[in-house]
Amino acid sequence: MKSLTPSASPSCLQEIVSCLSDYDPDALSVSQAQNIIRQFIAPVQSVEKVAIRQALGRVLAKDMISGIDVPAHDNSAMDGYALRGSDLPVTDPLIFRVIGTAYAGRACDSAVAANECVRIMTGAVMPVGCDTVIPQEFTVDATDATVTIPAGKVHPGDNRRLKGEDLTTGQVALKKGKILRPADIGLLASLGVAEAPVQRRLRVVFFSTGDELRSLGEPLDTGCVYDSNRYTLYGMLQRLGCDIIDMGVIKDDPAELEAAFRSACENADAIITSGGVSVGAADYTKQIMAMLGDVAFWTIGMRPGRPMAFGKIHSGGKSAYLFGLPGNPVAVMVTFYFFARQALLYMMGADAAPLPLLPAISKTAIRKRPGRTEYQRGVLSINQDGQAEVVVTGSQGSGILRSMSEANCMIVLHHEQNQILPGDQVSVLLFEGLI
Ligand code: AMP
Ligand code: MG
Repeated sequence: MKSLTPSASPSCLQEIVSCLSDYDPDALSVSQAQNIIRQFIAPVQSVEKVAIRQALGRVLAKDMISGIDVPAHDNSAMDGYALRGSDLPVTDPLIFRVIGTAYAGRACDSAVAANECVRIMTGAVMPVGCDTVIPQEFTVDATDATVTIPAGKVHPGDNRRLKGEDLTTGQVALKKGKILRPADIGLLASLGVAEAPVQRRLRVVFFSTGDELRSLGEPLDTGCVYDSNRYTLYGMLQRLGCDIIDMGVIKDDPAELEAAFRSACENADAIITSGGVSVGAADYTKQIMAMLGDVAFWTIGMRPGRPMAFGKIHSGGKSAYLFGLPGNPVAVMVTFYFFARQALLYMMGADAAPLPLLPAISKTAIRKRPGRTEYQRGVLSINQDGQAEVVVTGSQGSGILRSMSEANCMIVLHHEQNQILPGDQVSVLLFEGLI
């Protein structure tokens, strides 16, 4: 591995791996690789203000502090009659005098005295002295002047929404690093906030390498395959909310590869390539990657996805993180999900938890030997007892993209895990909700 003079932070790869007693680039565990990546990556620091609709899916760049109480006043949660809880009848129904009506969005100056009430609509400000609302459907003999309130239907304080119960002035409404979801932009609107500071989108360039690859629209010559990795990568990066640049297929030619890597580096925060990083690859991809920066070539204890390059390359005074993913279509997706995804989220400044693994019962035996992490494609369903069960999707070759397409989850067989028998518990990662 080539090392560069460490700049400020983060340190060069060599510095990170020299602190690991058991670092072996030819036998790295998934978690070791994830740790090294995490230590080496730094977030992109650049903030822009966008209208809250445009902020959907973006990463919040600052804590959002509530400037108001939400709701701004105590108000009614129901259509009914507002009264003093202490006046509620205990045994027999009581007739109350109706002294006014409170509508949502209008001021109401009625102030109730004993055995008086105000007809009130949902969302209307609670009249002075009232702390309780009895829903309309519990009342009887209602006229404009009086209403009968039965005993035991509500307790004092019921059906009143309190001022500031959602948010109070000065409270952190949303934390920096949050990826904004529909509820979050709604919450911003409830605070009267029209624009939000978000991290600028991460710029990610990707291309495929290999002489056998053909792009769509080209004839499929003997021995060639259509380039599918650029499409799965497009899908995954798009869903992650990156600005993406597709550089197409780059032939296995040193000059073309160098030009592609340089251009990618000068135009993006991160570069994702597929192919050309296997141990026996007789091509130039690895040479050019190594020549342009601080890049480690790993053999990871995982299946699929053993070979991977990771590092940072430099060109024209710019630098970019590099993820050299393997070529096999399933391996590309697995390495993207388990290495690149978390790293890109971290670069985006997102406060994103690691992917959640859920327990499920394997319906079938799965061959597995300890010492590597295996990612099988599975179909998860809920059985009659409400329990999650999973079966593998047929052939699991790393080139069989159909296995990913038919699956609704990935079965993660951990590093130490052994042979799985029918009825054993396994961990699954659901695709739904994943990018
Ligand atoms: P490599 O890692 O370059 O040795 O590629 C491993 C396998 O993945 C080979 O069978 C390649 O043909 C296939 N492959 C590499 N890149 C792509 C791609 N972009 N689309 C589909 N298959 C690919
Ligand atoms: Mg290749």
